[in-house]
Amino acid sequence: MKPSGPILPGGTLGVLGGGQLGRMFAHAAQQLGYRTVVLDPDSDSPAGSIAHQQVQTDYLDAQGLATLAASCDAVTTEFENVPAPALARLAEQLPVAPAAEAVAVCQDRAREKQHFRDCGVPCAPFAVIETDAQLQAVDPGLLPGILKTARLGYDGKGQVRVASPAALQAAWDELGRVPCVLEQRLDLAFEVSVIVARNVQGELVHFPLQQNLHRDGILAVTTVPAPDLTAELQARAIGAAETIAATLGYVGVLCVEFFVLRDGSLVANEMAPRPHNSGHYTLDACDVSQFELQVRAMAGLPLVAPRLHSPAIMLNLLGDLWFRDGQAETEPPWEAVLALPGTHLHLYGKRSARPGRKMGHLNITGASASQVREVAQRCAELLGLPGL
Ligand code: ATP
Ligand code: MG
Repeated sequence: MKPSGPILPGGTLGVLGGGQLGRMFAHAAQQLGYRTVVLDPDSDSPAGSIAHQQVQTDYLDAQGLATLAASCDAVTTEFENVPAPALARLAEQLPVAPAAEAVAVCQDRAREKQHFRDCGVPCAPFAVIETDAQLQAVDPGLLPGILKTARLGYDGKGQVRVASPAALQAAWDELGRVPCVLEQRLDLAFEVSVIVARNVQGELVHFPLQQNLHRDGILAVTTVPAPDLTAELQARAIGAAETIAATLGYVGVLCVEFFVLRDGSLVANEMAPRPHNSGHYTLDACDVSQFELQVRAMAGLPLVAPRLHSPAIMLNLLGDLWFRDGQAETEPPWEAVLALPGTHLHLYGKRSARPGRKMGHLNITGASASQVREVAQRCAELLGLPGL
């Protein structure tokens, strides 16, 4: 359903998914004076525990979706793999942003890459593998490559590196012969991402590019401004992300991840139809955060171009930090971290830590990029993280 006008503060905004992204969305919505409702099956989710109301059902539960629709003026999603049919069903009753169709494109690597191509945005050479015949016919020029499941991958899960046709065959078996995309392995210099927001009126704004360091397939460090990026590449990436969003008729916050290759070229990797881990620095370093833009976009409020008012580094806080030196679960040394200037701790309220689980993040802001780096380095040492 199209909104008949902006949904003003005082209204009720719903989110499908109760994870940390839903929690930060709800915080932003509440700050603007909205009521918030979260739909999540978990009784103790990060967003459910701070929302005004939680609908505790599965994402496809007809009754749960009906309750959510009846309680809200508009609905968004925080969870990339939320079933597109759930969004489509809600859209029969109220405005849903982003739309099911746009989310469906982002959920399928093959459709996503086709969309990049349609927008004239380069991506890694790839082949779709859904049948034995397609597997046999793979161009050996794509090897060494990475076999990725077309759907449901995140944080490097559902990916296998392959160097030979035999390894490719074994990897596809290992992944359960589900539809996959084989991508050529590219020679990355570094990785960046850009976050844009678009509302139903077609207004489009963007954040500056962020440079991202991954460890074991999971985002570890984000640095803004991106230290290694030229102004020309920055402009090209922003233009590409804006075209990708506008062509989808996208409403909401969209993140596009790019690789910068050693030869200096820019290649789109993938996109996420929601705020993104690499945009968490915006909470403390920008005058409008990615979550506030998510609220504004879905509510049909004006979008203003966000301004970065401080350089920033974000350190992701994974559950591993709670188990240093193989000890029992111990809280990291927050007091020492918070004694340093410009540190902003965000914890998601998850009751138990597990290795690899995203427990929170730490934003560091300061007067200069070098000062931010120095403090971030000290924080990394205190937390037992690898050096920056
Ligand atoms: P996310 O957590 O961002 O959703 P994901 O599991 O969907 O991650 P990708 O973003 O596709 O996975 O890949 C994870 C990481 O693996 C990338 O950030 C990059 O470091 C590396 N990688 C992925 N594809 C390639 C490639 N074609 N060539 C080289 N490195 C790659
Ligand atoms: Mg990724």
